Amino acid sequence: MSNIVAIVGRPNVGKSTLYNRLTESRKAIVDDFSGVTRDRHYGIAEWVGRSFNVIDTGGYVANSEDVFEAAIREQVVIAIEEATCILFVVDVTTGITDLDDEIASILRKGKKPVFVVVNKVDNNAQQSDATEFYALGLGDIYNISSMTGSGTGELLDEVIKTFDDEPAEENTLPKYAIVGRPNVGKSSIINALIGHERNIVTPIAGTTRDSIHIHYNRYGHEFMLIDTAGMRKKTKVKENIEFYSVMRTIKALEEADVIVLMVDAQEGIESQDINIFHLAEKNKKGIMVVINKWDLIEKNTKTTKVFEEMIHEKIAPFVDVPIVFTSVTEKQRLLKVLETADMVYKNRAKKIPTSKLNDVMLPIIENYPPPALKGKHVKIKYVTQIAGTSPMFAFFCNLPQYIKEPYKRFIENKLRDNFDFAGVPIQIFFRQK
Ligand code: GDP
Ligand code: GDP
Repeated sequence: MSNIVAIVGRPNVGKSTLYNRLTESRKAIVDDFSGVTRDRHYGIAEWVGRSFNVIDTGGYVANSEDVFEAAIREQVVIAIEEATCILFVVDVTTGITDLDDEIASILRKGKKPVFVVVNKVDNNAQQSDATEFYALGLGDIYNISSMTGSGTGELLDEVIKTFDDEPAEENTLPKYAIVGRPNVGKSSIINALIGHERNIVTPIAGTTRDSIHIHYNRYGHEFMLIDTAGMRKKTKVKENIEFYSVMRTIKALEEADVIVLMVDAQEGIESQDINIFHLAEKNKKGIMVVINKWDLIEKNTKTTKVFEEMIHEKIAPFVDVPIVFTSVTEKQRLLKVLETADMVYKNRAKKIPTSKLNDVMLPIIENYPPPALKGKHVKIKYVTQIAGTSPMFAFFCNLPQYIKEPYKRFIENKLRDNFDFAGVPIQIFFRQK
């Protein structure tokens, strides 16, 4: 589902309010992470059972006055290229401004579906004011109030009609996506691995039209690399590099089996990197961390350990993630990256035989059963792995509703201790037997 809905428009029209409304509703149902930083500008929304990515361009606007109009124009161009459809937000209380006109003319030239979203239509009187926006020449208008949510349902009904249907999987090679903030070394590692044999595979059915896939087959490793790095030349405004990279990353992430999250050792893990973790976990993808530019770090015998602890602290509670320290420039541990990605790929596909699973897990559960609730004892009788693209386990018991989060976590940790699932999210279900 790499559908991306981009929210564009000039400042103060209500883009971020709309973004929050679209993603919050979903958050209430699905997002069970606590302490997630709220400063992110992309997230997952859901409407009538369909999930999609939403990106708020307002979050990427330049601070300096002189570049901001240019930045907005460029964002619109990027949105046309990368998004599935565009929500062009305008403000009924101000009417059409010059910048609205300019954005509209860029959108008219693009080939992507555009929805003119007239925001702040908080009451009936404003419905008639809104008709002025037909003059933008972009077809139908959708009157909404992001504040109250009115009108958003009608809008979303139309938005989801623009989505691509699930593409058929054709290529069975493992897919690794190298992602990370600009300048961490993504292009460098790809060049170092591929060298002059770089062979850009033309898009194949079931892959995003314009993501770059590289077929790698060397030293006993064969896989597809999804490159998100090649966007730099396309952006002129510095602030938009991030915006572009987020769009590319979302797409790559959905196609990949394993996410190779690259981080600059000197900068460490930041909120954008944490977001990638959450996206990987939500999408049930494998993930590993590459701490690059290790050559630039002054080291003693404890440095690696200190780094590992720092990273684990940031990515908690999903800490069972392999970390590789690399220097691309000094060609250190580059093959280790591939070996680790391969291991994560295999962990994700791992199937534990039911007998083994029960032999290991039932005694653990017997020694440490779920705490009794209201005098009732939960008895777990049997466990089995459910077929799927990522590990899922069903524990059959008498009172599944009595099992709480801490016990679930305990079970997850025991699964991880006994069967290697490094880098892979695990889903655990308790079911009535
Ligand atoms: P952005 O710069 O486009 O992201 O705009 P914001 O989402 O930050 O909103 C700008 C201002 O408009 C804020 O003060 C919002 O509270 C207000 N606003 C947003 N949506 C609505 C709406 O539907 N009705 C009204 N009356 N105000 C709104
Ligand atoms: P990208 O934006 O993530 O694709 O990053 P690049 O691959 O373009 O790298 C950004 C800069 O970091 C370039 O100047 C690289 O030469 C440099 N660089 C990449 N890897 C390393 C490394 O391991 N050590 C050092 N010292 N510099 C590196």
